[in-house]
Amino acid sequence: MPMDNVIMMGHGSGGRMTSELIRNIFTRHFSNPVLDVLGDAAIFKSPGPHLAFTTDSYVIDPIFFPGGDIGKLAVCGTVNDLAVSASKPLLLSASFILEEGFPVLQLEQIVRSMAETASLVKASIVTGDTKVVKRGQCDKIYITTSGIGLATEKSADIAAGKNIKSGDKIMVSGYLGDHEICILAAREKLQFEVPLLSDVALLSPMILAMLESGAAIKFMRDITRGGLATICAEITEKKAYGIKIEEQCLPVREQVAGLCELYGFDPLYLANEGKMLAVVDREYADQVLEIMRKTDTGAHAAIIGEITDSHPGKVVMQSITGGNRIVDRLAGIQLPRIC
Ligand code: MG
Repeated sequence: MPMDNVIMMGHGSGGRMTSELIRNIFTRHFSNPVLDVLGDAAIFKSPGPHLAFTTDSYVIDPIFFPGGDIGKLAVCGTVNDLAVSASKPLLLSASFILEEGFPVLQLEQIVRSMAETASLVKASIVTGDTKVVKRGQCDKIYITTSGIGLATEKSADIAAGKNIKSGDKIMVSGYLGDHEICILAAREKLQFEVPLLSDVALLSPMILAMLESGAAIKFMRDITRGGLATICAEITEKKAYGIKIEEQCLPVREQVAGLCELYGFDPLYLANEGKMLAVVDREYADQVLEIMRKTDTGAHAAIIGEITDSHPGKVVMQSITGGNRIVDRLAGIQLPRIC
């Protein structure tokens, strides 16, 4: 990465430019065995229980949106990163950067929403920080949350996708793209007959049920920036296996598909804030699907494809019309500041 380059919006997309920035700047200098796994949470073995640790910043615009607000998002995002790493969320931190003039009533509404969301998974917000910058030097409110969770024996293997093999099934927990399209609609002030809500939600109750079933779950990741396509590309990168996806199996709401067509977006690359991908041993796939569908966040879960050894390192989607196309990471950016 040439040093006279500057940071561009695409560096925050969660797609190709983000991973280049992480590789060329952050992991190049911070490199260590815990970080280099690049899971949703870092898993470290300790003399006591193993721990999972993660952090995320939230700069979403607008801060209140159909189905949630920046506070709910800041708790769900961090809890979900712990949960998909097969760990139980325990302690959270919350740091706030506030713009001079920001209404205290709105701050309290956001903080109440954080407290309510954290209490649903019995996680406590135990430390934090507040900074205020002059009017115009930030946009209303930015929040950073970090989280510590108790990791299970399986955590390290699941976070690293160590046991993925050909024949495993790829599952998603529900409709793709609701969050990003909801934010797009809020910004564009679009009106719907049936309101489109963000899918921001806690994944941990569903994941707990999946893990407790004893099913062979090989990998989990929440489908946020970069979308399903970017995760699939990351799973297969430099691997001896590839992924085959069937387009007709992808759960996408009609409303979302319609707006994608209108704005030139692809549901494969849309961000969600309460959806996950799981790689599950084929023997257990139907059982896991049933468990997911019994939960609120997994009611529309679907098996969308499988791990294959026929095209190593590549993600191939069989389209509804029958053709095959190679699916790569998100290049550039669809919408900025969606989380
Ligand atoms: Mg994540």
